[in-house]
Amino acid sequence: MIEQARVALKAYFGYDEFRPLQNEVIQSILDKKDTLVLMPTGGGKSICYQVPALIMEGLCIVISPLISLMKDQVDALRINGIGAAYLNSSQDFTEEETIIEQCLNGSIKLLYLSPEKLKSSMAMLSEFNIKLFAIDEAHCISAWGHDFRPEYTQLNVIKERFPTIPIIALTATADKVTRKDIIKQLSLKRPNTFIASFDRPNLSLNVKMGVKTREKDFEIIDFILRKPNQSGIIYCLSRKITEELAEKLRGHSINAAAYHAGMNADERNETQDDFINDRVQLVCATVAFGMGIDKSNVRWVIHYNLPKNIESYYQEIGRAGRDGLKSETILYYSLSDLVLLTQFAEQSQQRELNIEKLRRIQQFAEANLCRRRILINYFGENLEQDCGNCDVCKKPRSRFDGTILVQKALSALLRINEPIGINMLIEVLRGSNKSEIIEKGYDKIKTYGIGSDVGFPHWQQFIMQMLSLGLLEMVYDEGFSLKATSLGKEILFGKKTTELAYPLIREIKKHTLSLDEETHIPTQTANEKLFDTLRRLRREFAEQEDVPAYAIFSDATLERMVMEKPTTEIAFLAIQGVGQRKLEKYGRKFIELISRHQYKNTVTPREKTDTLKETFRLLQHNHSPEDISKLRNIHLTTVYSHISTLYLNGSPINLRQFISMEEIERVKLAQKALGQSNKLKDYFDFLKGEIAYHKIRLALSWIEKQDKLI
Ligand code: ADP
Ligand code: ZN
Repeated sequence: MIEQARVALKAYFGYDEFRPLQNEVIQSILDKKDTLVLMPTGGGKSICYQVPALIMEGLCIVISPLISLMKDQVDALRINGIGAAYLNSSQDFTEEETIIEQCLNGSIKLLYLSPEKLKSSMAMLSEFNIKLFAIDEAHCISAWGHDFRPEYTQLNVIKERFPTIPIIALTATADKVTRKDIIKQLSLKRPNTFIASFDRPNLSLNVKMGVKTREKDFEIIDFILRKPNQSGIIYCLSRKITEELAEKLRGHSINAAAYHAGMNADERNETQDDFINDRVQLVCATVAFGMGIDKSNVRWVIHYNLPKNIESYYQEIGRAGRDGLKSETILYYSLSDLVLLTQFAEQSQQRELNIEKLRRIQQFAEANLCRRRILINYFGENLEQDCGNCDVCKKPRSRFDGTILVQKALSALLRINEPIGINMLIEVLRGSNKSEIIEKGYDKIKTYGIGSDVGFPHWQQFIMQMLSLGLLEMVYDEGFSLKATSLGKEILFGKKTTELAYPLIREIKKHTLSLDEETHIPTQTANEKLFDTLRRLRREFAEQEDVPAYAIFSDATLERMVMEKPTTEIAFLAIQGVGQRKLEKYGRKFIELISRHQYKNTVTPREKTDTLKETFRLLQHNHSPEDISKLRNIHLTTVYSHISTLYLNGSPINLRQFISMEEIERVKLAQKALGQSNKLKDYFDFLKGEIAYHKIRLALSWIEKQDKLI
């Protein structure tokens, strides 16, 4: 059976190998066991139930929370030649009838339903031959999860009504409470649980601390202009920021859209659709964006502000690089985000939990350790080594004895002896003469100005480090004022020392934004050009079929094509991501483009000028005249005229492979009738158009040569 699964994986999805755990999960389903799967976004959860659905007799019901997601999945399955459909409230009666009919007669293998639809369709379901229930985004069932959906709690009816049918629950949320809750609420019977590694090594992790808004915008614009064809998402803290940022980006000719919960459903759907279909390059969004999106070629994710917890952060960056290709993530972190988020957390229902979670993401952002290790640790796994693909690994921070700096900051704070925030403390340390400081008399205290040798942004970074080292704490309910901790006081009084990390010196580039946009566009290598050409062809197909481009082929698959340059059907089928159906539908066109590219890049200009020789060379390599015409981008009749000339010049060419003896005889007769006419058109008309021009020409060459030989 598992062998059959492997065959189906190649035939329908074009993949040669299962990813880690897919194999085991499928085996568990084939053994009719309840199964719980935890895999990160992009880990390949869908294959876990789609492949079994294909090889088992009967129907697989898939529960999915969002209609847009269902539609994408069903489209993608159909493109692969798999019978799939969804039912939701938007369909009319006849449409629904047709789908039900197809479920009954077995032509549909996977039926997607929303939880509400499931509830109302119970009677109908008992008519079907159901073999498997798959619950996607299963964490939505748990109030402990970060995405609770009350509708999901209705799913307990499945086990009640279908006690013997296996359920597979899938989620990308890892924590233990949620996991337990899923098992309990779905009444899973001693489920096999599979937990994949949550590490996503293809995502680079970068955190940038304390960058001022103006500079941040410059950096982002610069970043995007360097990647003119790459999709991305910018997560922002508020609706207002999404709109302002999108506006600003559009001002630099960047195709950006905003997305937030304040827009109406139509606008939101349209934006999402534009993004999926590459009509907008990037979306500036609040957290509301992304859950309904399966787009596999998001190449980067930027957090314009600090997210509220590590779970959200991880899920949001996880929307990049689902196809497994290298993708970039950048998190911008500033103290004002922290202040705002703390206020939100303070006012939230699960106050303590939320504040604790915020603290953890803050520690992550401020850490001077490999970020991936912290992240993976958070999800309960251990990474043995530094990752090499985060900003800390790439630029390790060196440390120095920071005792004196800490003492300066803490003594200023203690002498002020009033609740003050970070910025005010820095102003005092730097000896600023702002009116507020003078009014309060802070310029009179002994430590006023003792830190003037350190710049403002550096002080900010040092104070953040002091906070994360536990030397200072922020008292949220006293206007975010700072307090020295007992550990801090020990350092202040010389009982302990401490190290600090040097702040990162950002290379503040001269901004080139006013320059011609072209300066940003790097020159393309031959492979990049090919990738671009293939991408365009993919887009044409996507538009014809009204599906997202990545549903035709993923970026990863295109990249393989560029690496391997398949010019035959067999080679094309061997590419990861090319199944039987896609070979049939798209193979010819893609192969054609790749061949043409190969040709252009292997022929030197001198050879190109010798056009006859080139046709001859290709003929010898068994290319047909049609192939040659396409490869060389010359007209078919030109190719035939080359063949005639070559033949007459004595090149060893077998004309008979292009024309039959009968055709030659007919042209001979025509020649007799027409006398010595050398107009092809006369021949053509005489032969009533039954023999094509190029064949007439070949026949005449044949006759001419025969005459000479005789
Ligand atoms: P998830 O639902 O876990 O986020 P998906 O099922 O959407 O992930 O899979 C992510 C990407 O990985 C998709 O483009 C999918 O086609 C691809 N994929 C899944 N399984 C394999 C495999 N065995 N080999 C190669 N690519 C795979
Ligand atoms: Zn690292």
